[in-house]
Amino acid sequence: MITIDDFNFENKKALVRVDFNVPLDEDFNVTDSNRIEAAKPTIIKILEDGGSAVLMSHLGRPKGERVSALSLSHICDKVSEVLGVQVKFVDDCVGEKAERAVAELQNGEVLLLENLRFYAEEEKGDASFAEKLGHLGDIFVNDAFGTAHRAHASTTVVAGFFPDKKGFGYLLAKEIKAIDKVMATGEKPVTAILGGAKVSSKITIIENILSKINHLIIGGGMTYTFIKAQGGKVGNSICEDDKMDLALSILQKAKEQGVQVHLPVDVIAADDFDNNANTKIVAVDDIPDGWQGLDAGPKTLAIFKEVILSSKTILWNGPIGVFEMESFAKGTISVGNFIDEATRNGAFSLVGGGDSVAAVKQFGFEDKVSYVSTGGGAMLESLEGKSLPGIAAILEA
Ligand code: AMP
Repeated sequence: MITIDDFNFENKKALVRVDFNVPLDEDFNVTDSNRIEAAKPTIIKILEDGGSAVLMSHLGRPKGERVSALSLSHICDKVSEVLGVQVKFVDDCVGEKAERAVAELQNGEVLLLENLRFYAEEEKGDASFAEKLGHLGDIFVNDAFGTAHRAHASTTVVAGFFPDKKGFGYLLAKEIKAIDKVMATGEKPVTAILGGAKVSSKITIIENILSKINHLIIGGGMTYTFIKAQGGKVGNSICEDDKMDLALSILQKAKEQGVQVHLPVDVIAADDFDNNANTKIVAVDDIPDGWQGLDAGPKTLAIFKEVILSSKTILWNGPIGVFEMESFAKGTISVGNFIDEATRNGAFSLVGGGDSVAAVKQFGFEDKVSYVSTGGGAMLESLEGKSLPGIAAILEA
């Protein structure tokens, strides 16, 4: 894998695709600078080598229009503050003005281009737009994992104009390595913990990872489709009746491939989808009518704990219960604690995709697991086994 460590940027201009799609408040202040901080090591390496960095990103969804509220000029001060360098800004991302600003850029300096998505050509992956972007640097660096699953001009097509002069930034390289550690080189036993609301949104992931794992823990709302398919009573729990055959075929495939599936045995059932509902612990396959399972029960958590603590590689995607409500957050918090303990004992743990990342942040597990993926859609597509165009474009000669 070619990373920026394979280049010396002295006297070179690096064109860097970053993900500075950060949230702004109504006065255009950056309210969360995590993504800027995440790109800092890559930018600093380029500057310390004696080169300069031309940063390009999208912000929001201007859909090919110049929307002043979505100008990247709003974040220029924040980027300067995070990098400790006064960042220059040019109010275009291609053409004469941008090219002039790049030509004037000195070693050690950083230039931020205007929002790429002010041009509809960006999201279309237009080749001549990508070629224009290609005029803005000597070496192309992709450090935006969050957009690596998009075949856009700046994430994918532009790489074609830098044969032998393109590489992954540190952030993107770290994401690729973390996913690889779970999907290809992970030490066994490998355990995947899948939760969340629906089987239908996780089916491609399950099918892709079955051949790579030893244990599959199923939690959250997905549980009930599996339980009902096996003849259990799920009361009013969330259930996809039209996915019951699929659930049975997953269980069958898991069996054929020697994967041990661990479904909840007991649940916290509630008489309403409400934090203040009445609750009781019931067997997962004997939930009374009018009641719904909203979190894992104590026996279930004891089983999950044993499996997680015996694992050497752990992937977690999707909450174990309705963690947004305090009364049903215990399962998700407990699983976070088990993963924390397993990680301290030497396991590699990766959390990625949607709500599990939100849960991990909310409950403070971010620094306790080995890696939290920043790229929602890109992470899910990787787990589904898809090749991400932004990554493939760097790997191609
Ligand atoms: P997903 O986006 O598929 O990962 O689903 C996440 C959502 O699933 C969260 O908002 C949880 O509240 C929800 N969820 C988890 N467990 C349950 C459950 N037992 N019943 C209903 N929703 C659930």
